[in-house]
Amino acid sequence: MSSTDHVQYANQTAKSITPIPLSSKPSFGAPEDPENSWTRSGQGASKTACIRTFGCQMNVHDSDRMRRMILDAGYAEVNRYEDADIVVLNTCYVRENAVDRVRGHLGELSRLKREGRVKKFALTGCIGASGESRDLQRQFGIDLVLGTHNTYELAEFVGLPGMEETHTPELPGTEGEHSAFVTIMTGCNYKCSYCVVPSVRGRMSCRPMENIVDEVHGLVSTGTRYVTLLGQTVDAWRESGKRFCDLLERIAEEAPRVWFTTSHPSNMEDRTLRLIGEKKTLVKKLHLPVQSGSDRMLKIMHRGYKSERYRRKIEVFRKAVPDGTLSTDIIVGHPGETEHDHEETLRLVEDCRFDSAYIFKFSPRRGTEAAELPGTPPERVVQRRFVEVLRAVEQNAFENNQKKIGSTEEIYIRYGRNPEEGNAIGETWSGHAVHVQTNAPPGTYVTARIGSAGPHVLYADPAEANSGDRAPRERPR
Ligand code: SF4
Repeated sequence: MSSTDHVQYANQTAKSITPIPLSSKPSFGAPEDPENSWTRSGQGASKTACIRTFGCQMNVHDSDRMRRMILDAGYAEVNRYEDADIVVLNTCYVRENAVDRVRGHLGELSRLKREGRVKKFALTGCIGASGESRDLQRQFGIDLVLGTHNTYELAEFVGLPGMEETHTPELPGTEGEHSAFVTIMTGCNYKCSYCVVPSVRGRMSCRPMENIVDEVHGLVSTGTRYVTLLGQTVDAWRESGKRFCDLLERIAEEAPRVWFTTSHPSNMEDRTLRLIGEKKTLVKKLHLPVQSGSDRMLKIMHRGYKSERYRRKIEVFRKAVPDGTLSTDIIVGHPGETEHDHEETLRLVEDCRFDSAYIFKFSPRRGTEAAELPGTPPERVVQRRFVEVLRAVEQNAFENNQKKIGSTEEIYIRYGRNPEEGNAIGETWSGHAVHVQTNAPPGTYVTARIGSAGPHVLYADPAEANSGDRAPRERPR
């Protein structure tokens, strides 16, 4: 997964590094009692817990698993720290200021603990796995610090019997929600100059296919209709001669709607790209981080491919999936980036005509090679390059989205109607985000005509509900 997944400037809601209060996830519905901000109760709960998540989808998924432990231990989930007996901060180490932001939360928790309002709090995730966590623990009196590979240790912290050490992916995802993430691999074997993932999540470890298929089967049989396969570089997944394309094909036969993220251009096979076009249950969108259009910068970043390979992959995708959407990650201002490198990136953006991009201004992270490299362009230059790339992406995205006006689309409702704005947010099979006027609940389909389009989202006319599901074939036994 690229470390730039966190700043998104087109096609979906901007996430930046704002903490995501998981209890606001639409799959949980509205708070049961907005007055006291309770969100979800464990069995006969008389104690309360709050989980706050920062960062990427891997973290959201890890938090879902920790939530299950907390609910199993009899806690009710609450939104606010001051209402919680215990608090878990599941953190991200993508940018230096992410640590600063977490420091602010730790300071507040430390104060609430001194005042006797919070009993104990834990720091988990990428910052927990980093070298800085000991200092933070000392400074703020954190009760438990966990990395990304030992979240099972949270069990004892919340009062459950200690669990045997188990590889994180063996812990099942959340069942019974309309959409679910399924981790298929963890870690990463690349060493991109700017990325902390290999040092905090370790080397790649792939989960066995049958184990993944069983989990997906279980999720679908309990009501999940949208499965996202998750990993740092999902297309690097392999097991005894089987490759990611084989796994994707199996999952596309198990679940009614399937997507995957994040991929690496060096691993992406043409047959995977063709499969996206062929399988009716696969959402026709591809997120393929390129990071730079300059071969010189790609080498400095240790990305392992040249821009020509990337362009060729995009050609295959566009041909195999003509109605599909394409997104990417781009880093602006990496040490050593010249004006010529920047122009190469603009040229690639023009050639690939992305539908959206996460554009990221380089910021050094301790422990990475790039943090030690000289030649970071001045901030005003980085800002100008950032705006130029952003404008180029948005211009392309806007033109692409305009072509959808007038088409009738089957839309999967991801987030139910917001009473203030009157719109639900859905996704077409082509992967476009759509605002649509409907009361249909999350996890269902509606059909609607696209009335207008901006650079980030389509706007549909009032919708009609339909059954929508593309039934996968019977599971082979
Ligand atoms: S090191 Fe791995 S996780 Fe980090 S950006 Fe590179 S490919 Fe992605």
